[in-house]
Amino acid sequence: MTTINGGRAMSSPVVSSRNVLKRNSMRFAASFLAALASLVAGPNAALDAASQHHDQVPGFYRLKVGDLEVTALFDGTAAFDPHWMNGTKATMDGVAKALHEDPHMLDVADTGFLVNTGKQLILVDAGAGTWWGGAALGRLAGNLRSAGYTPEEVNIVLITHLHSDHVGGLTTQDGKRVFPNADVYVAKAESDFWLSREIAAKAPEDAQPFFQSAQAIAAPYIKAGKWHTFSGSEPIVGGMQLVPLPGHAPGHTGYEFSSKGQKILFLGDIVHALRVQLQHPEVTTIFDID
Ligand SMILES: [Zn+2]
Repeated sequence: MTTINGGRAMSSPVVSSRNVLKRNSMRFAASFLAALASLVAGPNAALDAASQHHDQVPGFYRLKVGDLEVTALFDGTAAFDPHWMNGTKATMDGVAKALHEDPHMLDVADTGFLVNTGKQLILVDAGAGTWWGGAALGRLAGNLRSAGYTPEEVNIVLITHLHSDHVGGLTTQDGKRVFPNADVYVAKAESDFWLSREIAAKAPEDAQPFFQSAQAIAAPYIKAGKWHTFSGSEPIVGGMQLVPLPGHAPGHTGYEFSSKGQKILFLGDIVHALRVQLQHPEVTTIFDID
C-alpha cells in the first residue's frame, strides 16, 4: 500500500496506514466542522427571514381574589412631570430635590385590569390605545392576547373615567370598536360631561383634546347600542359594587369586586405620583377637575 505524504512516496505499510488514519481523521474533522458551520448557518438564515420583535416579556400579572382571576394588563409607562402637581412650595421643593437623587421617582404605569368571574370577562379601563402617550402606551390589547384572551371575548368594560389614557384602547383611530362584543359602562355624570358639546364649547382650549377624544372613542359604542350609563348603585355585575369617587373627573367611579371574603378595588387616577401623593395626600394634579 502506497500513500503520499508531503509529496514523498511512503512504502512502509505501518507508516502509511498511520498516515491514512491521520489524513482520514483530518477529513473527518473538516467535514465535522463543515457540518457544524451549516448547523450554525441554518438557524441564522431562518432568523434573517423572520421579522424582529421589539417587546420583552409580555406585560401581565395574575392574582386570585377569592374565586376571581384578576389579570393586570400593562399598557405602557410614562414619567409624571413635577409641574403637573399642586402642592406647597416646601413640598414641591422636596420633590425637586428627591427627583434629582432618584430620576425614576415619578415614573408611572398605565394599566387595565381583566377580571374573569368564571361567567364573564370584565375589563376595567382599556389603556390609551393610540389616543395618548404616543408609541409609549397602547400595549393593553397585545398583552391581553399574551395573557390568553382575545378582545372579542370581553363581555363588559367598566370605565373609571373618560380620560383618553383610560379609554383610548376601546376604539381605533378610524372609529372601530376594539372590543366588538363588549357592553361599556360609565357613570352618567362622566358621560354627560365629556360627551356634551355645550360643556366642551365653554371649556378652555387646553381641555379640548380630552373632550374630542372622549367623544370619538365613545361614538362607535353609542352607535352600536353598547354604551351604558349608571347614576346610582345599579347592579351591573354580581359581586361588584360601584364606588363613586368624583373629583379627578366629574363621574369618576371605582369598582370593588368581592369573592369569598376577599376584595379588590380599582381606583383609576385617584393618585398619580404615588411616592409623592401617598406621603402628601393634599397634593393634587392639574388633571383633577375638582
Ligand atoms: Zn385621568
